[in-house]
Amino acid sequence: MIQSRDGSPHPHILVIGAGFGGLTFCQKFGYSEARITLVDRQNHHLFQPLLYQVATAGLSAPEIAQPIRSILRDKPNVTVLLREVTGFNLERREARLGDEVLSYDYLVLAFGGVTSYYNHPEWEAFAPGLKSLDDALRIRRQALLAFERAENSNDPAERQRLMTLIVVGGGPTGIELAGAFAELARYVLRRDFRRIDPRQARVILVEAAPRLLGQFSERLAAKAVARLTKLGVEVRTNVRVETIGEGFLRLADGTRLESANIIWAAGVAAHPLSRTLGVSLDRAGRVLVNPDLSVPQHPEVFAIGDLALVRDQHSQVVPGVSPAAMQMARHVARIVENELRSGRATASSARPAFHYWNKGTMATIGRSAAVAQVGKLEFNGWLAWAAWLLVHLVFLVGFRNKAAVMLQWTYSYFTYQRGSRIVTGIGDSVTDQPASSRTRSAA
Ligand SMILES: Cc1cc2nc3c(=O)[nH]c(=O)nc-3n(C[C@H](O)[C@H](O)[C@H](O)COP(=O)(O)OP(=O)(O)OC[C@H]3O[C@@H](n4cnc5c(N)ncnc54)[C@H](O)[C@@H]3O)c2cc1C
Repeated sequence: MIQSRDGSPHPHILVIGAGFGGLTFCQKFGYSEARITLVDRQNHHLFQPLLYQVATAGLSAPEIAQPIRSILRDKPNVTVLLREVTGFNLERREARLGDEVLSYDYLVLAFGGVTSYYNHPEWEAFAPGLKSLDDALRIRRQALLAFERAENSNDPAERQRLMTLIVVGGGPTGIELAGAFAELARYVLRRDFRRIDPRQARVILVEAAPRLLGQFSERLAAKAVARLTKLGVEVRTNVRVETIGEGFLRLADGTRLESANIIWAAGVAAHPLSRTLGVSLDRAGRVLVNPDLSVPQHPEVFAIGDLALVRDQHSQVVPGVSPAAMQMARHVARIVENELRSGRATASSARPAFHYWNKGTMATIGRSAAVAQVGKLEFNGWLAWAAWLLVHLVFLVGFRNKAAVMLQWTYSYFTYQRGSRIVTGIGDSVTDQPASSRTRSAA
């Protein structure tokens, strides 16, 4: 039997993060004699693939999140702590939660990633990223209030600035945001204003690479561009962002774009907490794990999901997507469970290697259109969109959420409306003064 370090007959597994990786580990781990402590700084598990719909007023926040406690209520051996982990001492097998220290027998690191501004953290203030519910609500608020301020403004240039929305990053999140914002302006807001015409709004998508959707085939990327263009999105590829400031963005080709809504969807990096581990990381801060997903020199510590840099059986880097995080969690749950049941800890090299099953990639581009790539098979248009809807409904956690989202989607499909456009705490934020002067006069 593996004796717990704290003398308890029940070994202690500490899991950091209740995203796709950490939550799946707790759900799949089947050895009830072990104690699991799951720590997350949020009280909810978030379905990040639908965050862009909250940002574009299609869904409300509770529809894509679920309290962690309620998901795990039938797991009596799992204790959920709403705390922020601040550091680790792997030699002493300890994690720090502020001034409290938790020891463990096994540690599962699943604290995911953060938005990366590629050495330009100052851009964050002017171009929010999309990673949390707070980010999504901030983007939604900013975009909806910009239309209100445009309606209140008498200055044509200011109106145009307010009605220009720029998305930086032509990956799946970037094209989903651009497509959904274009539809919001053209179809949803179209008849709600009298002094402005929301159909005149500009949505610009900027990508530094020569084409959008680098992980998809060229054919599907071209389909995505065609669809975005039809929605009125201006797609600019092969051009880097040079500067972002309040209300403007400058491209490397010298173009200056004025916009009250700039959204950053161009980069992710591992959470900076990985730097406190004292182990080898790649440039994005991901942990370079062994083939079994354990951390070198620490067979009792595993890193999974967006935090781990691991290569699949074809030597390709496993992408930072939710199915990969869930598959890694199941793999680690099996290893730890087997060791605890057998009472024998094994060397990392004697354990099975992780094998990634790539089930395909998809991205949606507004109503009734998507692109999907499953191995050599490629789909686009309505069929891909229907598959996208189905997959997201299946993986969304909680029956209530599935039902609510299905209802919202059906409502939006038939009415061209979006149900989540309420903004609170408006104050003077809809006058046509620039944000900087409002702040000064308030102060
Ligand atoms: C906008 C967006 C859209 C996406 N769309 C898709 C998609 O369509 N399909 C797809 O497959 N993937 C998509 N992804 C990627 C997918 O969401 C991630 O790959 C997946 O969430 C990774 O799971 P994870 O468990 O590693 O991390 P996460 O799911 O990010 O979970 C990390 C958890 O750790 C917690 N945490 C972080 N720091 C601490 C700390 N210090 N202390 C305690 N807790 C902490 C966080 O609160 C969070 O709950 C998308 C991601 C984003 C941001």
